[in-house]
Amino acid sequence: MKVHEYQAKRLLREFGVPVPDGEHAESPAAARAIAQRLGGRVVVKAQVHAGGRGKGGGIKLADDADGAEAAARQILGMMLKTPQTPPEGIKVRAVWVERASEIARELYLSMTLDRVRATHVVMASEAGGMEIEEVAARTPEKILREWTHPALGLADFQARRLAFGLGLGGEAFKQGVALIRNLFRLYLAKDCSLVEINPLVVTADGRVLALDAKLNFDDNALFRHPDVVALRDVHEEDPLDVEASKYNLNYIKLDGNVACMVNGAGLAMATMDAIKQAGGDPANFLDIGTVNDVSRVVNAFKILTADPSVKAILINIFGGMARVDVIAQGVVDAHKEMKVGVPVVVRLAGTNVAQGERILEDAGLPLIRAIGLGEAAQKAVAAAG
Ligand code: GDP
Ligand code: MN
Repeated sequence: MKVHEYQAKRLLREFGVPVPDGEHAESPAAARAIAQRLGGRVVVKAQVHAGGRGKGGGIKLADDADGAEAAARQILGMMLKTPQTPPEGIKVRAVWVERASEIARELYLSMTLDRVRATHVVMASEAGGMEIEEVAARTPEKILREWTHPALGLADFQARRLAFGLGLGGEAFKQGVALIRNLFRLYLAKDCSLVEINPLVVTADGRVLALDAKLNFDDNALFRHPDVVALRDVHEEDPLDVEASKYNLNYIKLDGNVACMVNGAGLAMATMDAIKQAGGDPANFLDIGTVNDVSRVVNAFKILTADPSVKAILINIFGGMARVDVIAQGVVDAHKEMKVGVPVVVRLAGTNVAQGERILEDAGLPLIRAIGLGEAAQKAVAAAG
C-alpha cells in the first residue's frame, strides 16, 4: 500500500525525522491560508501516488500567499502526467504546502528488503534529486549500501558510514546519523516495504531535511497497522483492484485479454505461463484462494467481466481442499446473476470433479470444456481472437 507525501511526512515527523513545516490543502483558498501562516516562500506540491511530479509541473515554488493560491489553482484538478503515472495522468485532489527550503545539496536515501541477501538494505547516494535508476545503471559506485543484521538491525557504525559517505560533516553529520537511525526505526515499526527520501537535502544553513518522502507498506502486515490502513486513498488505486480487495480476492490486472480464474497462486502462475505459451496474453492474475464459497466465484466473475479488455475467461481449477462442485455452482450462479458476454473455457480437476461436471452439464451453459491445461489455454487464446 502507498500513501501520499503529506501522510508520509507526518509519520516521519512522529519518528523524529526532520521535514519542512507544512500542511495539506484541498482548495486554493486553503493553500493561501497555509502560506500566510508559514510566511515567506513556500512550495506547493501535488499529492498523487506517483513520483516525478517536479518534471510534470506538479511542484511549484511561490514567493507569497498570492503565489501559493495561484499555484494551487493551477495544480488542483489537473491531470498530472509523469513517467510513473498512467498515460492519461492522475487527477490531483490535494496539495501539500510547505515552507520552501534553500537547498545546498540534494542527496538520496532509501530502505528496502534485499530478497537475495534476505535482509534489509539501506541505500544512500550523493547523487540525489535525479532518477536513481539512472545513477544505478550508469554509475553504480555512487550508491552506498549497508545491509542490516536481521536480528540486530542497523548498527550505529553503519549509520555513521552512510552519513560519512554522503559527505556530511560536523553538525550535519550528527543530524544525518540521527535521521538515518530514526528513519530505519520507522521502516521497521510500520512494516514498510520501501522508504525513499529523494531528495534528502542539506539546506544553506546546514540542516538535514527530508524534502520528499515515499513510503510503501507491506500489504501482508497491514492487519497490525490500523493507523496505516486509515491512510489509504482508494482514488489512487485501480478501481478493479479496490473491488477485488473488498472480496478478498488476490487480483492483479495485466495488459492482455485472456482473463484467468484460478485457485492457488502457483496454479495461477502456471496458467499465465500456459496462456503465453499458447500465444496469448493474460488479462490478470486472479487467485480465488482455497474456498468453498460460491459467492467468491461470483465476485471473481464480477471483477473479470468489468474489465473491458477481457475477451475470454479461462477457469482453471484443481480441487484439493477446494471442492470442484462448489466452484462449478459458482460458475452457474454467476451466469444467472450477470451477463457474461465473453466465451468461458473451463478446465476442472480434483476433489468432487464428477459432481462439478454434472452441475455444469445440467445448467446447459455455453461453456467451452477442456481436459488438459495446455488444451484449455489454447482454446481460451483462440476464443479471445
Ligand atoms: P518528485 O518530482 O515527485 O520526486 O518531487 P520532489 O518532492 O522530489 O521535488 C522535486 C524537486 O523539486 C526537488 O528535487 C527539488 O529540486 C525541487 N524542490 C522541492 N522542494 C523544494 C524547496 O523547498 N526548495 C527548492 N529550491 N526546491 C525544491
Ligand atoms: Mn522526489
